[in-house]
Amino acid sequence: MTASEEPLLPGCLYVVATPIGNLGDLSPRALSLLSRVDLICAEDTRTSGQLLAAFGLHKPMVALHDHNEDRVAARLVADLGAGKTLALISDAGTPLVSDPGYALVKAVREAGLELRAIPGPSALIAALSVAGLPTDEFSFAGFLPARASARRERLRLLAAETRTLVFYEAPHRIVECAEDLATEFGPGRMVCLARELTKRFEQSLRLPAGELAAWLRADDNRQRGEFVLVVAGAPATESRASLSAERTLKVLLAELSPSRAARVAAELTGLKRKPLYELALQLGAAEPGPEGDQPDN
Ligand code: SAM
Repeated sequence: MTASEEPLLPGCLYVVATPIGNLGDLSPRALSLLSRVDLICAEDTRTSGQLLAAFGLHKPMVALHDHNEDRVAARLVADLGAGKTLALISDAGTPLVSDPGYALVKAVREAGLELRAIPGPSALIAALSVAGLPTDEFSFAGFLPARASARRERLRLLAAETRTLVFYEAPHRIVECAEDLATEFGPGRMVCLARELTKRFEQSLRLPAGELAAWLRADDNRQRGEFVLVVAGAPATESRASLSAERTLKVLLAELSPSRAARVAAELTGLKRKPLYELALQLGAAEPGPEGDQPDN
């Protein structure tokens, strides 16, 4: 079946990946569906309007971003329930990957309505595919915290992770992030920096963490654009000595409240309780525990 012959499913939300730079990466299937749905939900209607205009499309759009998603999702679920077809796109790449869309997709699932993924570009997968680091198992860590102390603490929590790690980073923090990586993971840990993927000034290189900040500083242009960092996992021997904070918490959370799990994990790993508690909440234990869970100091 070709893209244009695929019938639209009434009442379906299509989650559509769009290019991360190179417009040639919009798939024929994505284009065909975007041209036929009733409404397009976009993170930023101006940015997505420009993308669609480049393909000669002018469609009704609704803005869906972190600040209005819960409210707008209810209305969109009603539209889907009435048989409309909707597409969800973000500014670039795959929606929900460090982008809005989770509340809407969850609401559509809970309403028992149809969903279809229209796969395509994602900076995470593109970077991983050229990093030359193990891909059999990896962990996507999204954006690191903006505040220096919180960023270092998060890196400390991840330092013993044996799987390849993938981070997104903003240009104004890339040098600081490189310095923190070398400090927390050790200067010898291999890192692949992928910059401006699929765009004119695309660059990707692999080097030890201890050399990354100097490489970035050597030319201001190297600090411009969009970045993915792919970091080698800790050697297995190192991680045996120092338990992975995330794995430890996951096991403990199956039995304990987040604050208790954080307290035990702190004992086992030697890390501080507060960041472990925050990580415990992120790992899906957002509900207060049996004792009105609060972080221990
Ligand atoms: N949903 C997107 C995806 O699937 O990749 C990611 C959205 S997130 C808000 C934006 C971040 O993705 C950027 O700050 C950067 O870290 C990364 N990114 C997006 N496009 C990129 C590109 N062309 N090259 C390198 N990194 C990119």
